[in-house]
Amino acid sequence: MSTIYDKYKDTFERFGIAKSGNKGVFDGEWKGSGPIIKSVNPVNNEVIAEVISGNVNDLNVALDKVNEAQKIWRDLPVPKRGEVLLSMRQALVDNLEPLGKVVALEMGKILPEGIGEIQEYVDILEYALGLSRMMKGSMIPSERPGHVMLETWNPLGTVGVISAFNFPVAVYGWNSAIALVTGNGVLWKPSPTTPLVSIAVTRLLEKTLHEHKLPTSLCSLVTGGTDVGSSLAADARAHVLSFTGSTKVGRQVGQVVQGRFGKSILELGGNNAIIVMEDCDLDLAARAILFAAVGTAGQRCTTTRRLIVHENIYDTLIERLIKAYGQVKIGDPLEEGVLCGPLHTQAAVSVYEETLKKVQEQGGKILFGGETLGGNFVKPTLTRVNKDMNIIKEEAFVPILHTMTFKTLDEAIAINNNVAQGLSSSIFTKNPETIFKWIGPAGSDCGIINVNIPTNGAEIGGAFGGEKATGGGRESGSDSWKQYCRRGTCTINYSGALPLAQGINFG
Ligand code: NAD
Repeated sequence: MSTIYDKYKDTFERFGIAKSGNKGVFDGEWKGSGPIIKSVNPVNNEVIAEVISGNVNDLNVALDKVNEAQKIWRDLPVPKRGEVLLSMRQALVDNLEPLGKVVALEMGKILPEGIGEIQEYVDILEYALGLSRMMKGSMIPSERPGHVMLETWNPLGTVGVISAFNFPVAVYGWNSAIALVTGNGVLWKPSPTTPLVSIAVTRLLEKTLHEHKLPTSLCSLVTGGTDVGSSLAADARAHVLSFTGSTKVGRQVGQVVQGRFGKSILELGGNNAIIVMEDCDLDLAARAILFAAVGTAGQRCTTTRRLIVHENIYDTLIERLIKAYGQVKIGDPLEEGVLCGPLHTQAAVSVYEETLKKVQEQGGKILFGGETLGGNFVKPTLTRVNKDMNIIKEEAFVPILHTMTFKTLDEAIAINNNVAQGLSSSIFTKNPETIFKWIGPAGSDCGIINVNIPTNGAEIGGAFGGEKATGGGRESGSDSWKQYCRRGTCTINYSGALPLAQGINFG
């Protein structure tokens, strides 16, 4: 019988991935001394391929190797680093579809979204290339004659990246592109359920660094589980620890990194809402809600989980959504026309069932869906809830959209903000007063505050991340690059005298 590996053999072989014996550690050479982990296709839970993962000792060696490589890399003029990033970009462009396919096979998202994820990595490399000509410090007026004050931005050393299963490539892309252009080395600890695509990406980076005659351990990889992740968080050689994952794990990681005075960038869970005002374009809103709540089978950190609708248009909107939900094709993410693939694991199916049970126990109703469909497949679901129910305060990483009503804008904003998480939020309206209130001090308390677009699908040019239990970290665009740097305030005296600040006369 032909296996899934056999079916996509050409794709896997392109990245040197075999059915078994794949080495899951790269630190300049490929190795692995940890347990064997299995990459599973969420469509039928068939094992795609096996990987010999890393252990804490592998991590230990790899951190030293990144450190050695970084000493060479940091001395390259920044635009020269940009040239290397340009080659990395080309390697990804040449492999856009095959890499997207590995994402779809291993994570379970539909192929266009898998390819989109690689495109996001391409985009951030372009951004980093631009940054390589623009990363500038500033000159600050000095109060002392004959003195100059400068602000310098230098690399911190090694950036440890711990990533989640749901964006197995893009999150590494956002972090590594910016970490590299700012002169750091990178050590990647991917999710244990998506090892294959991390191997594939690392092979491309290895080849590119080799072509540029640079030490390939600059982009090292240690696949593995909690032991490797927690050791990386605790290790002072990871000067920056960028963690993407659940709030529960992120809370521990944040404390461990703080305990050693490392820098952390935390990208944790969301509980994102869309507010639908009476004056909005309802067609636009309905289309956006469908993508935001059903896309990636509800497994984006920015997926819309709460829908807050003005009471006068609630029935009309729900009617449209039920119709649209009924037309969503669920199935194999590699099949054309499928919009909703499976959940990543069987455990997620249990979360789906548990959540719906609690909705009903707490007095809510299921308006559409609510069924498991065998294997990891579930029906995207709409519920009717009350804004005070406990169940809607938690992030369930499945396609369940809780709907509720409001009467006034203030009430809608209060509902939006009344959860522990603060990642993404969106309002649909045509009223400028509403828009400016929403983006102002009494508006949404999230890191991402949208108007007339969904909560998901961010562009790389802006800073990405959220407040409160989402961790407060920012990645990607804007001035996020500064987090990967040590800031130096340099005062240079060229006066020949020694005037002191604040006019102090000392001796
Ligand atoms: P998870 O927290 O279970 O795992 C994330 C990573 O942490 C994995 O690589 C895992 O091996 C590692 N890990 C586990 N225990 C650890 C420990 N004690 N110390 C260090 N590392 C450890 O998350 P997941 O299920 O893979 O991903 C889903 C979650 O990620 C959701 O909550 C989602 O909202 C969040 N997420 C957030 C963003 C964002 O940018 N805010 C983006 C994607 C996903």
